[in-house]
Amino acid sequence: MSTYIRTTETGFQLPVLFYPTGALAPVISQQTVEIHYGKHFNTYVENLNKCIAETEYEGMTLREIVKQAPKGPLLNNAGQVLNHSLYFEQFTPYPPASNRPTGNLKEFIHFDFGNFDILKKKMEDAAASLFGSGWVWLAQEESGKLTIVNCPNGENPIQQYMTPLYGIDVWEHAYYLDYQNRRAEHVKKLWDIVDWEMVESRLNI
Ligand code: MN
Repeated sequence: MSTYIRTTETGFQLPVLFYPTGALAPVISQQTVEIHYGKHFNTYVENLNKCIAETEYEGMTLREIVKQAPKGPLLNNAGQVLNHSLYFEQFTPYPPASNRPTGNLKEFIHFDFGNFDILKKKMEDAAASLFGSGWVWLAQEESGKLTIVNCPNGENPIQQYMTPLYGIDVWEHAYYLDYQNRRAEHVKKLWDIVDWEMVESRLNI
C-alpha cells in the first residue's frame, strides 16, 4: 500500500524514492527517472495541491479523492499522483535478486491466469493495444480474483472498486527517451525490475 503520501498543511508531498535515480538502468535510464519522477510526477502533485486548496477535498486522503472527485483537472491530477506513487514504489534496483512472484501472489497468479508467463503475455498485449495515453494494471477485484485492467489517461482501478497491484505506465513520457516508439520492448524489460514483494503487499488476502 502506498501509505507514505500524507496530507499536511502544505498539501500532498512528492514521495521519497526508495532507490537512486540511476538504479533502474538500463531498464529505465537515470534521465527518464529524473524527468518522470522529478518533473512529471512533481507537477501532478503541485497541480493536485492547487486543485484541493480551500475545497472540501483538502482533508481527504488521496484514495478518497480519486473515488469521489468528478471528471476534470482535480480527478486527473489525483489519479496521476496515486498512479505514480504506486508506480515508483513497485520497482527495485537492477538487477534484482528475484524477478518472479512468490508466496500468496504466486498462488493467486497461478489460480487466475494459469502461470506467470501467461500473465506477462496478457499484460504485454494489453499495453500494446492501449490506444493513446494510459495505464495497464494487474488489479484485484472485490471477490479476490486477479484481473488486467486498461485505464485511459490518469484513471486507476480503485474507480472500479478494484485494488491496483502492478501498473505499467504507457504514457510516452515513461519510455520515449529510452525506447522511442518501441513500447512493447519497454514493457517486456520492466519485468526485470518489479519488486514482487511490494506488489504482493498490496494484495487483499
Ligand atoms: Mn507517468
